[in-house]
Amino acid sequence: MVKPTSSPPIIGKLHTFPTHEVKQVRERLVGWYDDNKRQLPWRTIAATEPDRNIRAYGVWVSEIMLQQTQVNTVKSYFEKWMCKWPTVSDLAKATLEEVNQMWAGLGYYSRARRLHEGAIKIVQELDGEFPDDRDSLMKQLPGVGRYSGSAVASIALGHCVGVVDGNVNRVLARVKGVGADISNQSTSEHFWTLADQLVDPDRPGDFNQAMMELGATVCTPKTPNCESCPLRPHCVAFHRNSAQKRSSIATHFKQSDKKASQESTNIPDLECLPTCDFCLRKEDWDESLGVLNYPRKAQKTKSREEVCAVVIMNCENGKMFLVQRPKAGLLANLWEFPSIPLVAGDKTSRKEEERVVREDLKEKYGLTSTQTDSITYSADVVHIFSHIHQTYRVYQVSLADSKGLTWPDRYQGSQWMDKTEFLASATSTAMKKVLKAADPSEQNDKGKKKKAESRDSPLETKKQKTISQFFSASGCTNWDEV
Ligand code: SF4
Ligand SMILES: [Zn+2]
Repeated sequence: MVKPTSSPPIIGKLHTFPTHEVKQVRERLVGWYDDNKRQLPWRTIAATEPDRNIRAYGVWVSEIMLQQTQVNTVKSYFEKWMCKWPTVSDLAKATLEEVNQMWAGLGYYSRARRLHEGAIKIVQELDGEFPDDRDSLMKQLPGVGRYSGSAVASIALGHCVGVVDGNVNRVLARVKGVGADISNQSTSEHFWTLADQLVDPDRPGDFNQAMMELGATVCTPKTPNCESCPLRPHCVAFHRNSAQKRSSIATHFKQSDKKASQESTNIPDLECLPTCDFCLRKEDWDESLGVLNYPRKAQKTKSREEVCAVVIMNCENGKMFLVQRPKAGLLANLWEFPSIPLVAGDKTSRKEEERVVREDLKEKYGLTSTQTDSITYSADVVHIFSHIHQTYRVYQVSLADSKGLTWPDRYQGSQWMDKTEFLASATSTAMKKVLKAADPSEQNDKGKKKKAESRDSPLETKKQKTISQFFSASGCTNWDEV
């Protein structure tokens, strides 16, 4: 009989922690963390700062920064941030422009905006006091969901709540042999239940950080180091893989190998219910993957193709024309070169495309025919957003001055910037790539590459005199990400 899809899943005991195992896992994990944890600035604040508001603020900032960015990148941003705005009230006094500038290079700018909004709310509506528990943090602070709320509540405020992020998902899926799709709501809920059950009431913050640290440094996505893992005695994935390797399992859920049996004293039985929805079935086990059979990956949705022309308007005084994106949506509030949407997959010739760009510049930006006559194509730049495969066709146009220039209503405003100002402004990584691709000296330095970037399309790159002269005039050659 087929189960109705709304029925709760059947979860066998293999995928839960009995009480005695909870205690062992806590001891092993926290002990391992004490010996192996990385020294990170937000951990120092959480461990040593006596003021609860500063602890909560530091952990909140770090957790939001870490949401889509690697630890090593976050470290320097976090230190600069805390130096400039050491308390939540300091952040509340900053302008959004300043906050975006500080965030430049981290991407996903909505995170910065929400931190700023949250700080203002704490100061104006909550008397400068951080909410005290997970639910209040989630309710009161924009951008704080179950994960961030739990992290701040446990790490900074000592509340006994578990956390589940991508690292914890992976560790739990392997340790408890969960073969159900991790993007399913029921799988996610099960992991939250396990995390809340496991968290050590004596050291909730350290326990949660230990789980995440283990996933980040030992139980990694592609190269888990099971030999040095404190949870190996409990790990279903490890024992199943060992048993499979020795080809001593009679059936998928029957462990008959004595050696494996001795090793897995904490896993008395790999047997599960025949009807269990969380087991990885025998036919789905890929021997070549070993423990990487867990977690089961969700099928990726195909990203959308988008193409637009971006036009770098160079003025003779060495400045470029930038427009500010709308307050909401993708890359909200960031500065960019004027962009003109094109049709993805269109086989229009370059000549026809240039005509479309010229017309748009005349109609929406007030350029004259003489000005648009100087337009030249530079390169294609591809940038991958989480759900968009974006191609920028980079054009340049030279202007004697900025007289008569306008911009479409969808933008908030415009500004002329030189290269240094542009790099210091709140702009996206994609726009920096665009400017970089338009610089012929960059192309020459890199062995006269035909591609503007490694992921760019193979269209030929033309040299652009104007922008080259402008760059050398500015004296700035540092193209590193800000
Ligand atoms: S034993 Fe291996 S697979 Fe299991 S939790 Fe440790 S590192 Fe991950
Ligand atoms: Zn099962």
